[in-house]
Amino acid sequence: MEKVKYLILGGGPAGLTFANCLKRKGETSFLVLEKEEEAGGLCRSAVVDGSPFDIGGGHFLDVKRPKVNEFLFQFLPEQEWNLFRRDSRIDLGGMVVSHPLEANIWQMDLERQVTYLASIAKAGCNSGLPCPEKFTDWIFWKLGRRIAEDYMLPYNQKMFADELDTLGTYWLEKLPDVSFEDTLRSCLIHKPCGRQPGHASFYYPKHYGYGEIWRRMAQEISPCVRYHAEVSCLECDVRRVRTVSGDTYEADIIVTTIPWREFKSLTGMPEEMTNAIKELKHSAIETRYCGENLDTPAQWIYVPDLKVTWHRILVRHNFCPGSRGHWLETRQERTAMYPETKSAGGCESEHNENTCYYVSDYAYPLNTVGKPEIMEKLLGYCAARGIYGLGRWGEHAHHNSDVVVEKAMKLADQLCG
Ligand SMILES: Cc1cc2nc3c(=O)[nH]c(=O)nc-3n(C[C@H](O)[C@H](O)[C@H](O)COP(=O)(O)OP(=O)(O)OC[C@H]3O[C@@H](n4cnc5c(N)ncnc54)[C@H](O)[C@@H]3O)c2cc1C
Repeated sequence: MEKVKYLILGGGPAGLTFANCLKRKGETSFLVLEKEEEAGGLCRSAVVDGSPFDIGGGHFLDVKRPKVNEFLFQFLPEQEWNLFRRDSRIDLGGMVVSHPLEANIWQMDLERQVTYLASIAKAGCNSGLPCPEKFTDWIFWKLGRRIAEDYMLPYNQKMFADELDTLGTYWLEKLPDVSFEDTLRSCLIHKPCGRQPGHASFYYPKHYGYGEIWRRMAQEISPCVRYHAEVSCLECDVRRVRTVSGDTYEADIIVTTIPWREFKSLTGMPEEMTNAIKELKHSAIETRYCGENLDTPAQWIYVPDLKVTWHRILVRHNFCPGSRGHWLETRQERTAMYPETKSAGGCESEHNENTCYYVSDYAYPLNTVGKPEIMEKLLGYCAARGIYGLGRWGEHAHHNSDVVVEKAMKLADQLCG
């Protein structure tokens, strides 16, 4: 049995940031337990065909949190990043328009513009109907039938789940907000109007994948990280953790960034709460490398067509200097549509595009209707016992890495002064 002051479960961006903040505050009694052989979580990168491949999907650092960027640049200095203006597009079956669709209808031919505008004009939000509680209803209410059916419904189904109806609407601040007036204005002046989506400007490392920053952060605290340490049990009442290989750890404070479903045994917690954890849903993703260059200036392209296996294409040669090829992101259930099916991830050959793919079992926490209430109770109960849920999985929230870093910095300030 090992005892530390702070035990951190998971060595992704959340766990690594929290641990590095402790170190910078002079704390020495902390340990990170990470189940994989390297840190970085969803933000890890490999080298494929001589250039970076972000194995958990294409990752970009948003510019909009200067304090976060300042912190991250201490590990990978700003001059080692390129700064981009976002160019993302939507492939509507051969007709390609910029994202977000509702701000770029002006790029379509005149007849299509009229059809799309008429459809938005009839949407519920423009005729005074109340905002619905389910995501699918919200799409029709906000954007009208045409954008719903051609883009938002199939795209979100491809990315998140076949049962889109289980998703709520409390998380939609992540989506662009373009009013009907903004859409009309953009058609008249031939320029996008309205609140643009995140990552309007973003950083990507010049010579590495996005994983480099987390690799350096892990290096900084290397004596305090245990790899191949897969946590499976948590005893809440005594703050004790056990790994699959039988090692046991106790701590004054536990910060957990791993998915709650990873705990095969959770004791010292009401049964109602352990049952609620089973209601937390997520989706898995496969990323795949293709060596072919694409004739587009975009950094990434959304593909809503249900007949196409993948939902997003990352055009590597447009953001990794000196590289070629692109990456495909596909929800794991849909990979059966590929001609050859695979059961596990890996890279059999760095050059063979048909054998280079990775699977992340936990990619998107699903924003199901009852989730906020489950998480509020769970996090409150645990915090009262010195156990803090942090990050994408600890909070089961759709946080990007900059958000996770910000939250980890704040939690370190709160717990370690
Ligand atoms: C397709 C895709 C694209 C994305 N694009 C962006 C983007 O462009 N920009 C951006 O900022 N963010 C992006 N994100 C979000 C980003 O990946 C997350 O914000 C970030 O990885 C969250 O960090 P985390 O530490 O909370 O979780 P994770 O990165 O998931 O880390 C969790 C860690 O816990 C470990 N772990 C899991 N189970 C156990 C266990 N039982 N025992 C021990 N350890 C365990 C994992 O191995 C992992 O290292 C994207 C995510 C996806 C899926």
